[in-house]
Amino acid sequence: MRDATKYIHAGVEPDPSTGAIMTPIFQTSTYVQSAPGKNKGYEYARSQNPTRSALERALAVIEQGKHALSFSSGVAATDAVIKLLKPGDEVITANDMYGGTYRLFTKIYAKFGIQFHFLNTQDASLVEKAITKNTKLIWLETPTNPLMNITDIQAIASIAKKHGILVCVDNTFASPYLQNPITLGADIVMHSVTKYLAGHSDVIQGALIMNDDSLREELYFIQKSCGAIPGPQDCFLVLRGIKTLHVRMQRHCENGEKIARFLRNHSKVSKVFWPGFEDHPNHDIAKKQMKAFGSMLSFELVDDSPENTTRFLSSTSIFALAESLGGVESLVNHPASMTHASIPREERIKNGLRDGLIRLSIGIEDADDLMEDLNNAIG
Ligand SMILES: *Cc1c(COP(=O)(O)O)cnc(C)c1O
Repeated sequence: MRDATKYIHAGVEPDPSTGAIMTPIFQTSTYVQSAPGKNKGYEYARSQNPTRSALERALAVIEQGKHALSFSSGVAATDAVIKLLKPGDEVITANDMYGGTYRLFTKIYAKFGIQFHFLNTQDASLVEKAITKNTKLIWLETPTNPLMNITDIQAIASIAKKHGILVCVDNTFASPYLQNPITLGADIVMHSVTKYLAGHSDVIQGALIMNDDSLREELYFIQKSCGAIPGPQDCFLVLRGIKTLHVRMQRHCENGEKIARFLRNHSKVSKVFWPGFEDHPNHDIAKKQMKAFGSMLSFELVDDSPENTTRFLSSTSIFALAESLGGVESLVNHPASMTHASIPREERIKNGLRDGLIRLSIGIEDADDLMEDLNNAIG
């Protein structure tokens, strides 16, 4: 099946009892058994739900993995991966990543004796040097949030393989349409499904996708034992979102490119972070591992004083000032005070995330309207 057909049909079949073309929302907590232990493959909805199963099948297909597991949020999916570890284990991870992942690692799991090493994963030799006999996991995010740095997934995965270390890639920013880390050697792909996969800013959900059967069993055991599962209505909404992922992503990417170039040519903008620029430091790797460059970008104004930044953030009319990304509508965000406020300021600035940085999630509106809106707000 070619990509566009996959997004429409992957994982779903007409409901066998009625012929309903759309997977029904199985709003049930339990399933009747004809005798103790005799059931139709479903016992209790924390363990199995048919709407969720259809979604998990679809996610596996579009991410080019064998198995998928759905979670109640992106951070719940990340949490499940860290639960594979035990005290004394070490994790190598990026120094530029989603603030909530950083918070989960440093504020929740560090106190259970798991050690996290934050470094620049764009430099594969730094990653290799940081490996010890206790290293069990390399956690990557590419492109990163919010600086759009690119890590070479294949290079890191081949180092990890030599040492028997798992690699998990947070693929939220790219979506399965732009990048498939499993095909590049990653063991697990994590998604905040909340973003491009759901696509309409109406669901919180997460997912893990993997090839290995025993890794799937371990993670399924964690999913079932810890219970961070999504409800069937949310699974239905995500199944619906996936059907238009490819079409939405095509427009997201077109608009993203137009706006990245518009901002770069604007006299009142000093810097634009977008991996599609030929002079982006990792443009070649982005080109190699991604189908296109996405619709997330960040920029800094020439006048990046707190007053002017705040004035800009309150002046757009189409771009809504909000956390989150990947929906059909365009959003603007101030990482330092919003999505990345949980990262200490010195840490943030050291890694290049300045107070004046503004992040955009470019939606699928008319690009000319979006550019006019930005131009008016820049003033
Ligand atoms: C939003 C986000 C998460 C967390 O996902 P939730 O669905 O909000 O729990 C993780 N990683 C990235 C890159 C994100 O953008």
